[in-house]
Amino acid sequence: MSDQKLATNALHAGHDVTANGGARAVPIYQTTSYVFNNSDHAANLFSLQELGFIYTRLNNPTNQILQERLAAVEGGIGAVVFASGTAAIATGLLTLLKAGDHVVASSSLYGGTYNLLSVTLPRLGITTTFVDASNPDNFKDAVQDNTRAFFVESLGNPKLDVLDLEAIAEHSKAAEVPFIVDNTVATPALLNPIKHGANIVIHSLTKYIGGQGTSLGGAIIDAGTFNWANGKFPEFTEPSAGYHGLKYHEVLGAASYTFKLILEGLRDFGGAMSPTNAFNIIQGLETLPVRIKQHSENALELAKWLEAQDEVAWVNYPGLESSKYNALAKKYLPKGQSGIVTFGHKGGFDAAKTIADETQIFSLLANIGDTKSLIIHPSSTTHQQLDEAEQASAGVSTDLIRLSVGIEDIEDLKADLKQAFAKI
Ligand SMILES: *Cc1c(COP(=O)(O)O)cnc(C)c1O
Repeated sequence: MSDQKLATNALHAGHDVTANGGARAVPIYQTTSYVFNNSDHAANLFSLQELGFIYTRLNNPTNQILQERLAAVEGGIGAVVFASGTAAIATGLLTLLKAGDHVVASSSLYGGTYNLLSVTLPRLGITTTFVDASNPDNFKDAVQDNTRAFFVESLGNPKLDVLDLEAIAEHSKAAEVPFIVDNTVATPALLNPIKHGANIVIHSLTKYIGGQGTSLGGAIIDAGTFNWANGKFPEFTEPSAGYHGLKYHEVLGAASYTFKLILEGLRDFGGAMSPTNAFNIIQGLETLPVRIKQHSENALELAKWLEAQDEVAWVNYPGLESSKYNALAKKYLPKGQSGIVTFGHKGGFDAAKTIADETQIFSLLANIGDTKSLIIHPSSTTHQQLDEAEQASAGVSTDLIRLSVGIEDIEDLKADLKQAFAKI
């Protein structure tokens, strides 16, 4: 599969029709567990002498197809799916880190991820230094002896900052720590972080990959490129007390992290994806390349239209010439810049609330990446737990409106915003 192109892999990778009774669509294996041939077979599965299905918290045939497909479209050697993007991020970090470890992260992150790193993980002794990611050298300057990961979003939500992934990857290489990239907003159809030096890619599948707003899901894709035997990750080289004394790196080599996510991350934290959600997300992934093209075209046209409206104070979209991230967008997102647009109305905070309340096609809700258009005022909703300085470093001003531009007819979307502006 690996030499086929992305749109082909999105439709076919991981699904062997002959192994599934000729079913053209991926079947839903709605089962919790799998019958062993006998006790020796069970023992072999538990000790990894043989690979196979044991229990759906660890793996499932439907989930497995989604995993192989995600690895194919991102260019990784393996992938693991989770109940949500948040479960993927939390399990991914807790599988790598222990008390006393440190992360360097972009300050422009999804609100939930920012809280995990700034409030919850410090309670477990894992600390984070947040840096302005627009200067890649800030990552190098924040590295400490105990730094064990860099964490960024390739296209920040909701700041829409495009990062210079290659420059940050150089610093992570020098620091000998894995470079983790949340690629949710860009999607693998527009950007493959592994090609630019990422070691680990994370997705909330809930957004563009699922695409229809029906199912939560998350994934970690392992590039297989990080050297876990560099002395900084003894849990990968020493016998694992948590798994029969397994020495991950010695036995599993490049696939060590993928297996640790399953054998310890899913086993101990339990954030498994339901097979029915895996099926729903597979339906989305199959059409991702055509949908994201339309999302990107609509978003660019709407951003240009907003720029031309007298009552609009500012517009942020990386595809606009006026965006300070336009040069990086040309390098990293040449096929399109995805569907998120932010803007401010001259009427400020109050106007933003009115617009979010009065649109009829754009639904007021806390999600992105649906085929249907969505709107939210982050300052009063998704980011309200943060103080004004934290909101500012996350790219949220009090007047900011975030649009997730859907694939409806663009003229209807313009008309909807125009009638909402008239209500101010
Ligand atoms: C939504 C989102 C998440 C969290 O994913 P859930 O599936 O909602 O748990 C993480 N990162 C980004 C960039 C997101 O947009």
